[in-house]
Amino acid sequence: MVAIYKSDVVIVGAGLAGLTAAREIAKANKSVVVLSKLHPLRSHSGAAQGGINAALSDDDDVELHIFDTIKGSDYLADQDAVELMCQNAPKSVRWIERMGAVFSRREDGRIAQRPFGGQSRPRACFAKDRTGLTLLQTIYEQCVREKVLIFDE
Ligand SMILES: Cc1cc2nc3c(=O)[nH]c(=O)nc-3n(C[C@H](O)[C@H](O)[C@H](O)COP(=O)(O)OP(=O)(O)OC[C@H]3O[C@@H](n4cnc5c(N)ncnc54)[C@H](O)[C@@H]3O)c2cc1C
Repeated sequence: MVAIYKSDVVIVGAGLAGLTAAREIAKANKSVVVLSKLHPLRSHSGAAQGGINAALSDDDDVELHIFDTIKGSDYLADQDAVELMCQNAPKSVRWIERMGAVFSRREDGRIAQRPFGGQSRPRACFAKDRTGLTLLQTIYEQCVREKVLIFDE
């Protein structure tokens, strides 16, 4: 027997990008289905170790993050997309932290940040050496919570 599913949105890929989109769509009360070649937790996102850049500290600013990112791309990046990403980075880090992602901390309790490729400030927020896996598990849990339908493998 063939099952036919109907959904407002179909997402192909269950890495950090796909699952984040799926979670937000479900939160907006739209039905969403995710199709993935692998189980979500085996997506490449889980391999990222270094961290996620965000201009959080007092001696950093978003303009500098934008500049570093565009320069680091040899000026090939879509500059409007970089601007949007960098502007939203602090909000995104706090967003996923509040959903349960445990970032490594400084002595004073703030999120720790370390130097990362091409960045002129230590701005990579990390969870020891398994940042990607931590973020992926967090967003996957949230998708399960929102009852997102995931067809893997
Ligand atoms: C080893 C490693 C280390 C990294 N370190 C960092 C880091 O420290 N900091 C950083 O910012 N970035 C890092 N990156 C880059 C970052 O992890 C990726 O850019 C990001 O995770 C990509 O997320 P994504 O959701 O777009 O893709 P992915 O996580 O790759 O997800 C793709 C999804 O698509 C699915 N898929 C693929 N093909 C098909 C198909 N034909 N049909 C259905 N589904 C399909 C896969 O199963 C998977 O679920 C690293 C990447 C790697 C590999």
